Amino acid sequence: ALVLGIESSCDETAVALVDSQRRIVAQRIASQDAEHAPFGGVVPEIAARAHAERLAPMIEGVLADAGIALADCDAIAATAGPGLIGGVMVGLVSAKALAMATDTPLIAINHLEGHALSPRLADETIEFPYALLLVSGGHCQILRIDGVGQYRRLATTIDDALGEAFDKTAKILGFGFPGGPAVERKALVGNAAAVPLPRPMVGSGEPHFSFAGLKSAVLRAHESRQYAVADIAASFQQAAVDCVTDRLRIALAGMEDVDTLVVAGGVAANTVVRNALEQLAANRAMRFAAPPPKLCTDNAAMIAWAGIERLGQNDPLDIAARPRWPLDPDAEPVRGAGV
Ligand code: ATP
Ligand code: MG
Ligand code: FE
Repeated sequence: ALVLGIESSCDETAVALVDSQRRIVAQRIASQDAEHAPFGGVVPEIAARAHAERLAPMIEGVLADAGIALADCDAIAATAGPGLIGGVMVGLVSAKALAMATDTPLIAINHLEGHALSPRLADETIEFPYALLLVSGGHCQILRIDGVGQYRRLATTIDDALGEAFDKTAKILGFGFPGGPAVERKALVGNAAAVPLPRPMVGSGEPHFSFAGLKSAVLRAHESRQYAVADIAASFQQAAVDCVTDRLRIALAGMEDVDTLVVAGGVAANTVVRNALEQLAANRAMRFAAPPPKLCTDNAAMIAWAGIERLGQNDPLDIAARPRWPLDPDAEPVRGAGV
């Protein structure tokens, strides 16, 4: 089977064709970094406009690259949320139009499910259940993944997401946008022990996250003019990694029957994060998997793959785009949680 995937929830316009043998038959990604960089972050209106301008030629381009007609696709999968609503609507409306014109099933995909299932696209041996650390620009969660659509959230952040913390740190240190990869690069030449920074929530019996205090401490360290930016970047990254591994240890204690640890989302592209998780898994005799970095940050292959996992589903053409869409609607609300 073959599925066309469309992603437009943030600032990458992406289209991909993926088949049930896990082949990414064709894909295109257009980043909007240049458009948003002058503003130091993603501007929703600019993002929606850019998606609208680029999407149709990119869909044509991907089909042409693969030499495939839309009618040969078994389904069209599009991100239907959560995300910036203008962009999500552009992608979803396009998918609906194509689905209607060619009488092809529409599969509305939760962007977070795209991230959550991406390790299975990268590696056919990843089976349910697995423990998932989902670390992206808007989310920081630990979930138990028991199957497609069977997601239990065990932890979330009470303030910032981890990717957001990387982006804010980059902004404070003057690295520009987007920040995560810049922090990682600068940290390579810094001393991770140079700057004393807090590890918020570490030691708490609940596995939740908090990064706002760490970001504030980064700001104070920078303003003190006592430290080199590379040292602050490296110390921040280490503090963040210490938080993540501590929180995971607590969450995994409640999932003794799960033997695979998986990381996904943009921050999963970070080598220091990946290495720390690999070590944690090894210490617990768990298997560890992380998709290749290009499948960690936003892309349409993961959306198409989620469509493959959901083949047979045929969503109504009036299905709505959703700015918010939790993977686990039954998750306990967390005091102070913004996400
Ligand atoms: P969400 O998936 O929660 O809706 P998003 O789609 O904007 O948010 P992703 O594209 O999954 O997020 O991830 C982007 C985030 O990942 C950004 O915050 C970015 O800084 C971060 N990121 C990307 N590469 C790295 C890296 N090498 N190190 C640290 N962070 C990174
Ligand atoms: Mg982006
Ligand atoms: Fe994402």
